[in-house]
Amino acid sequence: MEEKREIELKNIPTRASEQYRNFPMVPRVVYGTGSFDQLGDILMPKRRHSEAPMIFLVDDVFEGTALLQRVPTIFCDRIILISANEEPKTEQVDALVNIILADFNELPSGIIGIGGGTIMDLAKAVAIMLTNKGSASEYQGWDLVGNPSVYHVGIPTISGTGAEVSRTTVLMGPDKKLGINSDYTTFDQVILDPNLTQGVPKHQWFYTGMDCFIHCIESLNGTFLNAFSKSYGEKSLELCKEVFLGENSPLESREKLMMASWHGGMSIAYSQVGVAHAMSYGLGYVLGVKHGIGNCLVFQYLEEFYPEGVSIFKDMLQKHAIELPKGICANLSSEDMDTMITVALGMVPLWENALGENWQAIITRDKLQSIYKKI
Ligand code: NAD
Ligand code: ZN
Repeated sequence: MEEKREIELKNIPTRASEQYRNFPMVPRVVYGTGSFDQLGDILMPKRRHSEAPMIFLVDDVFEGTALLQRVPTIFCDRIILISANEEPKTEQVDALVNIILADFNELPSGIIGIGGGTIMDLAKAVAIMLTNKGSASEYQGWDLVGNPSVYHVGIPTISGTGAEVSRTTVLMGPDKKLGINSDYTTFDQVILDPNLTQGVPKHQWFYTGMDCFIHCIESLNGTFLNAFSKSYGEKSLELCKEVFLGENSPLESREKLMMASWHGGMSIAYSQVGVAHAMSYGLGYVLGVKHGIGNCLVFQYLEEFYPEGVSIFKDMLQKHAIELPKGICANLSSEDMDTMITVALGMVPLWENALGENWQAIITRDKLQSIYKKI
């Protein structure tokens, strides 16, 4: 136990001056409107044989739509429709893996996630767990995955999380909400087709887009910042401002947000997120509030930490006439509030990035409670 903990700590993303991380990037990416139709050709050389299927995990919002007809299934390939109403859970990953292992004689040739952060994270986790024993919950943490994953492809249909480029898959486990951070998590192939984000409802577009905006603000204002993260973060922030405060054609807006998400993800790969994400994890853990909206709910009250970012965020809210829900924490029991604060405070690297090594002197339980109570 002691040894495992040590390994975990050593690999937790920390300030760059202490350790330069050798992190993987997505080795192959296709970008362009209509590029989704190249999927069949891309997968063909990865098919081991006809008994080793491609498994397509697809957001069930696409049930009965033309997109589903365009999924290039052959042989014994399977499409599994999945609801993105709740964030992915370790037990859901385990169940999917068990179904796939029971239904096929061979390991799949590939796992293809088509959807938002929820579906892409599931695809990453399933690809890992097909070749690693036990439950997904045993791998939540840093660099606990021993075996390379099955070939996996990410195809975002909503932009903002950066899950298409990141080295993690965020899962709700039995006792924590934490990513499987590993070199085997990153996709082998990504297809960025800005046409796929066409049908996203406005509020969801805003919340997931703000996840990207908040990644930039937290990365650019963090103590872990370095020229690598800054270059991606600045580009992403510029694109977010154009998308949410400028004038664009619908296609331009989709194209820019898709690339903002990519750059935002690259920016945090070599730095960290900050206060909004730490507190949003607490909201997600206790109340099931989803990542994008959770970040927005917290971020609006973080003027003290990110004055400029919060002011821009409020302009964006106003421009798009978004009213954030209120009273989310109003009826929280003191036990739940305590848990929420404990979960948030547990995100140590995020606090270190946001506030420096002495973050504990700045952030107290009372302080967090006073912010949560406003939400
Ligand atoms: P999501 O995948 O949860 O989807 C949000 C909603 O949009 C769903 O109702 C979904 O059905 C719908 N939707 C998606 N594409 C659509 C389309 N083209 N048309 C119509 N509706 C569409 O949203 P998200 O914000 O992308 O993902 C959130 C998840 O991502 C969380 O679970 C979070 O933990 C995770 N996340 C992961 C990372 C990472 O690096 N791995 C980073 C940030 C967030
Ligand atoms: Zn995020």
